[in-house]
Amino acid sequence: MDVRNPATGAVIAEIEGLAPEETDAAIAEAAAAFPAWRAVAPGDRARLLRRFADAVDAHREELAGLEVANAGHVIANARWEAGNVRDVLEFYAGAPERQSGRQIPVPGGVDITFYEPLGVVGVIVPWNFPMAIAGWGLAPALAAGNTVVLKPAELTPLSALRIGELALEAGLPEGVLQILPGKGSVVGRRFVENPAVRKLCFTGSTEVGRAVMAGCARQIKRVTLELGGKSANIVFADADLELAAARAPYGVFDNAGQDCCARSRILVERSAYDRFMALLEPAVRGVVVGDPAMETTEMGPLISESHLAAVASFVPEGAPVAVRGHCPDGPGNWFPPTVLAPVDPADRAATEEIFGPVVAVVPFDDEADAVRLANDTPYGLSGSLWTRDVGRALRVARAVETGTLSVNSHSSVRYWTPFGGVKQSGIGRELGPDALEAFSDLKNVFISSDT
Ligand code: NAD
Repeated sequence: MDVRNPATGAVIAEIEGLAPEETDAAIAEAAAAFPAWRAVAPGDRARLLRRFADAVDAHREELAGLEVANAGHVIANARWEAGNVRDVLEFYAGAPERQSGRQIPVPGGVDITFYEPLGVVGVIVPWNFPMAIAGWGLAPALAAGNTVVLKPAELTPLSALRIGELALEAGLPEGVLQILPGKGSVVGRRFVENPAVRKLCFTGSTEVGRAVMAGCARQIKRVTLELGGKSANIVFADADLELAAARAPYGVFDNAGQDCCARSRILVERSAYDRFMALLEPAVRGVVVGDPAMETTEMGPLISESHLAAVASFVPEGAPVAVRGHCPDGPGNWFPPTVLAPVDPADRAATEEIFGPVVAVVPFDDEADAVRLANDTPYGLSGSLWTRDVGRALRVARAVETGTLSVNSHSSVRYWTPFGGVKQSGIGRELGPDALEAFSDLKNVFISSDT
């Protein structure tokens, strides 16, 4: 596989994708490593994960550089992402010593529950946040006592491959964490089909997630799905409009809009529409697009030529372009931050995941209309709402059908708190205090005191 720099189009590495037999051999190695790994005392497993976190920390700049070169992430974000891998490892390093079951009162004896690891866990990662999403899967899976096979996306394998090397350098035993580059239709498919993989943690498109879930159903294989989104940024007339407009570009154009949580619909209360649009225009024009390695850059290129064409299809001739920002021309997959307004709620720019720097602005009449529009999508991942009315913030936050939502902010992912979607945005939750439960089965044991 040719690995390219999306800012220049240049080939920066060539990686051999695994064949089906090689994938099965790696899964067998992971299965062989499982009994010894689950038997590592919780305190020792914690220590190894902390050492792994330290190794990531010591190589943060290198990992960030790989993400800039391979995924086009701006350097400030890439540094945050490398730090996030470290933090997630450290957070779940605290888990093995705290993952306790319960003692349940029953007659005739004692009843206790245990969290048992599942065995081999397969983690499938998309190209938009290659190292952060890898960390969200592998860290809690390892902490719970599983061994892990992880497949990075075809386009962006470099940071995950380096993280795999760092795990070995930190002292994780061979076979406990293996990074297996290759095609989804080959390596990913073997994760689904090989019965030794007991759980799949998939992040990617809803279309592929549906096929993965159907494949897992044949073996009743456990599955977590983190899929697409079409999140709404709801701006009420009583909000701090200056702040809402200043922040709106970063709620959708961060990572060039290639973010499952991108607020690619801005719903604006009609009475504040003109004022909000007047404030939004300079904010969008102010987004600094260019060389992702520069400290001042806020938005980089799109991941590939074909993805650029897909994004551009949402802005055909005659599209209602209200604001168009700047971007470099020349080599690389560049697309400017673009605001479409006003957009009919039935238009594909308002209904489909764009995964690029294009946002559709839709006016609404009142609170009920805002909730109706926000929920008028098969997705339900994330979203934001801006208001000064606490009661309204609570009512709307509860009424919008998403897994996460932020009020007067665009925050979505914090490793302390659960993250995931409802409806066709996914099943299950990652991160937060309960993440290990998704990588464990609960066993109940009754011990009779009558015999
Ligand atoms: P994708 O579905 O094309 O690919 C995701 C991964 O699945 C890749 O590693 C790919 O190789 C693999 N894959 C492809 N076919 C497969 C198969 N048949 N069996 C097993 N694996 C297979 O997604 P993408 O284009 O890489 O990523 C973009 C999508 O990911 C967007 O829809 C985005 O919203 C979603 N996403 C969701 C979250 C979340 O947490 N909800 C986070 C990031 C991205």
